[in-house]
Amino acid sequence: MAEQNSQIENITNIDSHLDYQAVIIGAGVAGIYQIKRLADLGVRALVLDANADLGGTWYNNRYPGARFDSESYTYSYSFSKEVLDEWHWTEKFSPQPETLQYLNFVADKFNLREYMQFNCWVESMVFDDEANVWTIHLADGRHITTRFVISGMGVLSTPTLPNFEGMASFEGKSFHASQWPHEPLDLTGKRVAVVGSGATAIQLIPEVAKVAKNLTVFQRRANWAAPLNNGPISMSEMDEIRERYDDIFATCARTPGGFEHEPDRRGFYDVSPQERRELWDRLYDEPGFGIWLQNFTDIFFDEKANAEFSDYIANRIRQRVKDPVVAELLIPKDHGFGVQRVPMETGYFETYNRDNVTLVDGATTPIVRVTPTGIETSEEAFEFDVIVYATGFDAFTGAFDHIDIQGANGARLRDKWQAGPVTYLGATVRGFPNFLMLVGPQTAASNFPRGAELSVDWVTPLLEFMWAHGYQRFDVDETAEAQWFQHVKDMYQGMLLRHAKSWFTGYNSNIEGHEHGKMRYNIYNGGGPRYARMLREAAENGYEGMYFR
Ligand code: NAP
Repeated sequence: MAEQNSQIENITNIDSHLDYQAVIIGAGVAGIYQIKRLADLGVRALVLDANADLGGTWYNNRYPGARFDSESYTYSYSFSKEVLDEWHWTEKFSPQPETLQYLNFVADKFNLREYMQFNCWVESMVFDDEANVWTIHLADGRHITTRFVISGMGVLSTPTLPNFEGMASFEGKSFHASQWPHEPLDLTGKRVAVVGSGATAIQLIPEVAKVAKNLTVFQRRANWAAPLNNGPISMSEMDEIRERYDDIFATCARTPGGFEHEPDRRGFYDVSPQERRELWDRLYDEPGFGIWLQNFTDIFFDEKANAEFSDYIANRIRQRVKDPVVAELLIPKDHGFGVQRVPMETGYFETYNRDNVTLVDGATTPIVRVTPTGIETSEEAFEFDVIVYATGFDAFTGAFDHIDIQGANGARLRDKWQAGPVTYLGATVRGFPNFLMLVGPQTAASNFPRGAELSVDWVTPLLEFMWAHGYQRFDVDETAEAQWFQHVKDMYQGMLLRHAKSWFTGYNSNIEGHEHGKMRYNIYNGGGPRYARMLREAAENGYEGMYFR
């Protein structure tokens, strides 16, 4: 490991002329752990968040049915034995209110709120090339100086709405699913529309259908989904989980996605069709992402293998949906299973057997406009009291684009990233000195807290290294960034997902420049263990690829 010094005489005194030594933007899963690490070191640090309270994703996404697709216990922070011992997850896949409670529990336990300021919208941040200092400009008129800025803004924090004609004219309630109202919204007896069929819609549709007078789902493209198989965690099961935590985190660290699910490394064609079927039958009934991540790796690369497995899932859908016409509409025809992020569902397909639920096929009868009373498609006018847009996010780069980030020589990050993100190790960007990203673009796609801890555990020693050496500025070497970007690109080669209309590839029909085919290399596909190794090696070699002054 590069020389570090956690015994710097008094870290707090460094850069005492600046407001803070480090500012973290975002009080979500990553920001909370980052501030914990900095607080432990005695760093003068601040967390800014645009929301009224902490929690990030889990503060925002409070739509009915919002819950983990990760096993709750693999979503735990691993850094504190005390937290692991004290916290009881009550469900295998924790619902949003419990997760938000968990994040509050952690923050309160370590008095982290005292470092946080809420309702703080960062408008711009400008790097002073002479002084090697960032100035952060807030919408409330304040300016904050700091040596380092650390983004904890998450990957899916900027919702995107469609651009339908007449949206503003709708006289009922309408909102993006991630901005579900905080005050209770009773949908009993209401006529509700959901636009979209991604992971969010697939969670909320069954819940809304239970109470609404009628629910109309506007699906533009079908999405593969598989059962979550959620269930409670009893006291004794939680005790067993606590015993296993070390093993759980060790397993997460060696699997590509940071879950307990380990891929089946047998060759798809090395086992008989009967054996394949037996594996899939078992995985379909097991909790969580196993059906995606414990599957044969060949399904991610080999069209034929993928098609065979997709047929298997299609037949499951046919068995669950009574109306064969609706079943066919719910089976994706434009992509195979697992090449987009797989939504996990609880009774999603059976929801379409209800009398109060209608599926509108956007491929044949697209939405034409929103009217004061509802939605018009190319064929029919519908009336609604509530419209929920579950239409996704400006993934990875959206949150950065919303801030005018000006680095060395006044260069703007949003210009550099116009055609997609370019980073070094998913953590830094050449030309943007002293700017760090937790789970930034081009980090390994992973169970979020596992990736967040990895990021924080890399960023924190880097700062210690700089303080120990009296460095005031880091930047990234041009060749190192170019090589990393090439490596990120290479990792997309051969993967079926590179053709997908998915936020993994930067597709978002609601943003100009994010059309299908304009590939944005948003994620690192080399898997968590390889990514962790590359981070570690860079650090061990004195932060290879970076230079300091
Ligand atoms: P998404 O997967 O991007 O899905 C957006 C949906 O809206 C798609 O069905 C899309 O159709 C549709 N849509 C977008 N614009 C439209 C338009 N103009 N007209 C008609 N339809 C439109 O977004 P998401 O469901 O919010 O999920 C995003 C990610 O968030 C997930 O992949 C997941 O990683 C994360 N998430 C996680 C959880 C969890 O862990 N439990 C839960 C929810 C979400 P097209 O497919 O045709 O573009």
